[in-house]
Amino acid sequence: FLLAFADALIGASALSDIKSCSLSTQVCNSLAALNLDGELSFSKIANASRDFGNIHHTFPAAVLYPDSVKDIATVVQFVYASSSNLTIAAKGAGHSIYGQSQARDGIVIEMSSLKGIEVFPGAFGEASYVDARGGELWIDLITATMKLGFAPRSFTDYLHLSVGGTLSNAGVSGQAFRYGPQISNVFQLEVVTGKGEIVSCSPIENADLFFAVLGGLGQFGIITQARIVLEPSPYRVRWIRTLYSDFSKFTEDQENLISQPLIQSFDYIEGSVVVKAEDCCNSCKLETNATTGSSSPITISPVLYCLEVTKNYFEHESNTVERKISSMLAPLRHLPSMISVQDTTYLSFLDRVHESELRLWEQGLWSAPHPWLNLFIPKSRIEDFDAWTFKQQLRGGINGPMLIYPLHKMKWDPRMSVATPQEDIFYLVGLLRYASPLVHISIETLQHENNVTLKYCDSNRITYKQYLPNYSTHGEWIQHFGEFWPRFVDRKLKYDPKAILSPGQRIFSRPK
Ligand code: FAD
Repeated sequence: FLLAFADALIGASALSDIKSCSLSTQVCNSLAALNLDGELSFSKIANASRDFGNIHHTFPAAVLYPDSVKDIATVVQFVYASSSNLTIAAKGAGHSIYGQSQARDGIVIEMSSLKGIEVFPGAFGEASYVDARGGELWIDLITATMKLGFAPRSFTDYLHLSVGGTLSNAGVSGQAFRYGPQISNVFQLEVVTGKGEIVSCSPIENADLFFAVLGGLGQFGIITQARIVLEPSPYRVRWIRTLYSDFSKFTEDQENLISQPLIQSFDYIEGSVVVKAEDCCNSCKLETNATTGSSSPITISPVLYCLEVTKNYFEHESNTVERKISSMLAPLRHLPSMISVQDTTYLSFLDRVHESELRLWEQGLWSAPHPWLNLFIPKSRIEDFDAWTFKQQLRGGINGPMLIYPLHKMKWDPRMSVATPQEDIFYLVGLLRYASPLVHISIETLQHENNVTLKYCDSNRITYKQYLPNYSTHGEWIQHFGEFWPRFVDRKLKYDPKAILSPGQRIFSRPK
């Protein structure tokens, strides 16, 4: 009878789909009967059980492919009202590492199916901005804004990530010292809360929800739209890499560079650790032969540090940029002659990691497991961290890039949810490993190395914060948020009281 009833409501093709539903018959039928503009599928679920990390795989019961914000609100309202223990995860590009965008036996919302990018070039001194749906990829957003001569100010190294996904974490790259992370460059959000309410929020309207959601790990609402700050898009980029053998000189130079007045400063400042010739600066080879004739810089010292900076310029600055950069580089204390300069378009610089992605797909390595570890390390302990982690523990390399660059805490609004160390300057350290049968390195070995690094920090009282955090115990989450844990819990009770949203973060669980 129930199947006949469902057939009448949803038609024959949906009926074959509903047969795949693993939930109780009543819940399956009620979900199938929801009045949606898009599709809720019980069979097209495999993609929602995977992510970039390729370590955790949990299947949802259903996947929503929304065609409107109302679809998202309808499904959340249904789950909120039901007595089942269903949960919901918004999935952007699925570039999480440890299943954060998955929902075991719950509902995954495939945010990419809801499209929309609208650029508003500010006229007569007004601010310029772009409104983008939460599942839009940054690469598509940037391509659209650049057509009108504008670009966001703060990026991630890789642009094929979703707007909602990076805003739920922070969105950090070499521009963050200057403009703050991506979450510091948002004017307004539209959010569907854990009760299914559609709420517009900004620093002046529903400000608590706005700041809760930014860096909120998907716990307080689903970002359906974000209004992102734009500025005129530069014409080209001078992209410079230099090498250091002395860690103190490297970090002092980095810290000086991020503290210059903005007008005299580089536009992007990052760094990486080089222990093998192929590690040079994010896989971009330093052309030392051309400048020094030396075969490999790594022969100079077993551990080197690569400073990577860029200067953007507009067409009318083409003749002066060279002189300006020379004077900015003059005080740096890198190894003599160890410098490489490249000139490229703004977009090809921003989309640089995509080139590596294509190469790694060809080699079958992009889909390898990626047990990444990203940490924020306070400036006062970065020398200690280097002395043990880079110079000893990882001096043989990690099978992937090792990033290290400083950030200003003042660019991170403390009202946002993301946890950062209690110092004015802290470093982002990214250990971006991949496990591959080709090089006989297992996930377990790499995860063990991550644990050794964390254990070293814990036993030496280095008060790091994990970025893109992954914890398994409640106590670790309390420690992660520290004095802000009570605020995090209050916000959860206010905006997602039944703990429906983003179960893959494993912070709260829905009461049975
Ligand atoms: P997903 O994996 O889909 O989701 C991540 C989390 O956000 C989940 O909890 C999910 O439920 C939640 N979520 C997703 N969409 C929404 C939404 N619309 N509303 C609310 N919650 C949502 N990060 C940096 O900061 N800087 C970098 O330079 C950087 N480089 C990267 C390079 C690569 C190759 C990869 C794989 C990742 C990189 N990251 C970087 C990490 C990246 O920012 C995060 O993994 C981010 O979550 C990815 O976005 P996504 O769309 O894939 O999110």
